[in-house]
Amino acid sequence: MPRRPATEDAEHRLLAKGRALHDRGVIVMKFGGTSVGDARSIRQVVEIVRQQHSRQPVVVVSAHAGVTDALLAMAASATGGGADTGAIAERHRTILRELGLPADLLDPLLAELQDLARGLRLVGAASPKALDLLASYGERCCARTVAAALRAGGIPAQAIDAFAAGLRTDSAYGRARPLPDDGRILHALVAVQGVPVVTGFIASDEHGNITTLGRNGSDYSAALFGVAVRAEEIQIWKDVDGVRTADPKLVPMAKPIRSMSFEEVCELASFGSKVLHPAAMVPAMTSGIPILVRNTQEPAAPGTRIEATAVKDRPAVRAIAHRTKMALVTVSSQRLVPQHAFLARVFAELHELSADIGPVAVSEAALTLALDEATAEAALTRLGALGEVRIERDQAVVGVVGDPRAIEAGGAAAVFAALSAAGIPVRCGGQGAPGGTLAIVVPSSELRRTVTLLHERFFA
Ligand code: ASP
Ligand code: MG
Repeated sequence: MPRRPATEDAEHRLLAKGRALHDRGVIVMKFGGTSVGDARSIRQVVEIVRQQHSRQPVVVVSAHAGVTDALLAMAASATGGGADTGAIAERHRTILRELGLPADLLDPLLAELQDLARGLRLVGAASPKALDLLASYGERCCARTVAAALRAGGIPAQAIDAFAAGLRTDSAYGRARPLPDDGRILHALVAVQGVPVVTGFIASDEHGNITTLGRNGSDYSAALFGVAVRAEEIQIWKDVDGVRTADPKLVPMAKPIRSMSFEEVCELASFGSKVLHPAAMVPAMTSGIPILVRNTQEPAAPGTRIEATAVKDRPAVRAIAHRTKMALVTVSSQRLVPQHAFLARVFAELHELSADIGPVAVSEAALTLALDEATAEAALTRLGALGEVRIERDQAVVGVVGDPRAIEAGGAAAVFAALSAAGIPVRCGGQGAPGGTLAIVVPSSELRRTVTLLHERFFA
């Protein structure tokens, strides 16, 4: 039998390793900026990875907390002749020193960064393409530091940039969208010796230019890598205890929620909950991979498991969500056009503003809706052309998120009873027919009381 060429042999070995990888399962562990924010946190990350080493983790990291902001601020000052990379370099070297790692580990990357800053200073402006390149150094440095920390802790590991790991996007710098993966990513990750430590947030386009997935995009990266390696689960390690029954800033006794469905988390995200980057959920949901939100500072806590399938035996109401800085806008039609035409025109204007629309109430000749304050101000003149407009500022939207049937069967009544007993006016509210969320608008001054009251009503 003719011998296969060496490259083909290597190819076969990789494929076999890829299959073995799947037989034993793989997990993705993503660590956010605060989880890798300093030497102490990174040591904690090493221990967390060690505990799950046998599950074949693919580690995904953000930049150290604050570094992306600092890089982008530097670009802004470059246009005024500033742009000093000294502080950023020092931050990285301090972390290396505190971890007992060679302080010159990142010198090649930091030198590139310095050159880039000099270039920006000369040009006096940064294009979106240059900004993505600049921002990429945060994750690239951090991945190398974390990989070195793992090795120093006795765990074989290797840093790999997402673009080297096959993550391709379009060229929409600053908010690039992933291109379909044809096995490239799995192939690249299987070839890594030890635990791959991949950069979140960044990728490259088809011309090899570095792109970013948008601010806070490394959750999204984790989901994309998770799908590409068909992970058993995607763990998102943060500095909070997963999802809670309410914002602990308003309700200190809010409890962590052990398990939720993707739909419920999407509902929460529509209230501005920043627990997970919303785009991250789609790939995981369509591939049926659960996402676990865990707390790096409390690794023993179970966190929140976000299931692709419906969660059984769950409480009827899952969380009290809220959104601040909202306004109520009422447009009264002058009855010159039929109701459907009036509504179509109002929504066409809101579409122009890319408005994110809260609860809506429609009557024969008027429409009331909740918009965030900035959009509401921008909408005033546009809507003024269609009818008489009234705006009420300083409002908040509160959402009771839960099982639609439970909310219908008495849940909604309980909400209104509790609020009316407390003398809290409800200005506008709504629940869609399949809706798992009852959303109501209350004055901002009553927000804390409303959330506390509803939390007591459903979680005491
Ligand atoms: N470092 C990036 C940012 O701060 C990405 C991330 O943290 O997810 O936006
Ligand atoms: Mg960050």
